[in-house]
Amino acid sequence: MEQLPKRPANYVPLSPVGFLPRANAVYGDRTSVIYGRVRFTWSQTYHRCRRLASALLALGVRKNDVVSVLAPNVPAMYEMHFAVPMAGAVLNTINTRLDANAVATILRHSEAKLFFVDCEHVRLAGDALQILARQRGVPVPLVAVIDDIDAPTGVRLGELEYEALVARGDPAADLPPLQDEWDAVTLNYTSGTTSAPKGVLYSHRGAYLSTTSLLLQWGVGTEPVYLWTLPMFHCNGWTFTWGMAARGGVNVCIRDARPDDIYRAIARHRVTHMCCAPVVFSILLEGDGASKRLDAPVHVLTGGAPPPAALLERVERVGFKVTHAYGLTEATGPALACEWRDQWDRLQHPERARLKARQGVSVLSLADADVKNADTMLSVPRDGKTVGEIVLRGSSVMKGYLNNPDANDKAFRGGWFLTGDVGVVHQDGYIEIKDRSKDVIISGGENICSKEVEEVLFRHPALADAAVVAMPHPRWGETPCAFVVPRDAKAATVSEDDVLAFCRKGMARFMVPKKVVITDALPRNALGKVEKVKLRERARKLAPT
Ligand code: ADP
Repeated sequence: MEQLPKRPANYVPLSPVGFLPRANAVYGDRTSVIYGRVRFTWSQTYHRCRRLASALLALGVRKNDVVSVLAPNVPAMYEMHFAVPMAGAVLNTINTRLDANAVATILRHSEAKLFFVDCEHVRLAGDALQILARQRGVPVPLVAVIDDIDAPTGVRLGELEYEALVARGDPAADLPPLQDEWDAVTLNYTSGTTSAPKGVLYSHRGAYLSTTSLLLQWGVGTEPVYLWTLPMFHCNGWTFTWGMAARGGVNVCIRDARPDDIYRAIARHRVTHMCCAPVVFSILLEGDGASKRLDAPVHVLTGGAPPPAALLERVERVGFKVTHAYGLTEATGPALACEWRDQWDRLQHPERARLKARQGVSVLSLADADVKNADTMLSVPRDGKTVGEIVLRGSSVMKGYLNNPDANDKAFRGGWFLTGDVGVVHQDGYIEIKDRSKDVIISGGENICSKEVEEVLFRHPALADAAVVAMPHPRWGETPCAFVVPRDAKAATVSEDDVLAFCRKGMARFMVPKKVVITDALPRNALGKVEKVKLRERARKLAPT
């Protein structure tokens, strides 16, 4: 065979940042961003990002420097997904619901050079910066405030201001070309549900492949209208930050994802797509939500926590067309998607929802996903019963954890990334998560997956929410303890006995909770994930001795 060089002469590294100049060329006059009364076109977004990138360079930001941002889904947050890597730097989006200590830990661990703070979060940021300032030898980043572009507040923190930086930048300035597609593009800290937050680095290559594969698998055509309900700080909005540039979509930005704001934005802007955690469905169904009917279907990608089948059924009746995906920070967001099969359309509703509640098959950017016995690393049989650990390999798995060799060693085994989630494989190859390994309840030597008990509780007509955790037990070691939220708190429509009787009908005896706690709300983190650590603490206090 003819000897050719390893890389073709016109090799260009893969990067999702390249979708922006293309959007400028192809969709330049089309709307890119809507926020309140503010509208930008793709041409404006492109030029604003170039300006900001050149301003960052002028401030001394260099290749691989970390630029952190604490902001909700506002236009600046969107633009930074392009502008920061255009300057050769790494974007670190920080969860706005963290406390000052956690924000300070991230700024210190990432050695952030520059810190952008939205006007709504100056207090949190200010507290975090003070914590840093008190620690000897820890550099404090340069700070820039992002004022509200629709309704300026005049709030300031630090010397710099976002719009002034954009204005100061030169759209014609030379920007450093990307040399290597394995360079880091973003840094996202895990939400720390089960262990201390870890800094996950995505490469340009991984982000490009994850973005394109998700667009393809979710079937996103050109010029979608995308509502930003999922925080961009979560896995870069599951890559749809870059994805909307790839499709010339409209980014409808809202500060808060309150149900009224969501329904209003859907109607006003004719939203076609959005992503959200399953808890948003519960919120959308509150009040008269369940009786609403959308004028046109809205495609929703949901994940981040298990969506109970009963909830999927209810929300689809409103007109949301749900695609279910499973993922984690380390896999650039979605890693499995419950790919819908045409023949399932012929099934009745509860059965369809049951199939859709499964986490699914690997996304295209992965080479493979499997469920393996974590000790032998052998695949479990496709019987829908044998549990093992969900493992992944391929391009959407992170580049690695920043400055954390121990965590990097533990994360991979035999070329696979270990998710820490326990699941089964069904005969058709679809994976179903059963639990997080740390949430499995071991009762008298029997494993109880909390999610299986929760699925039954969600079928109870008087319950709006439920979570099950382990409660210490002198005889069984652990037993399930259920925390349930009644649909109508005032009407006292459910009792502990009632819930227990319902459970006895729907599950094996050993799985029936030994205790049911009726509560107003479950503790949830930023993404709507139930904070089981807190519930376990409450259960421990209720435990029989
Ligand atoms: P953390 O691991 O700190 O919570 P992530 O936000 O990355 O950080 O959460 C990933 C975890 O969320 C997964 O490991 C899994 O346990 C859970 N998860 C994500 N998507 C789903 C889903 N569709 N069904 C069930 N659990 C999910």
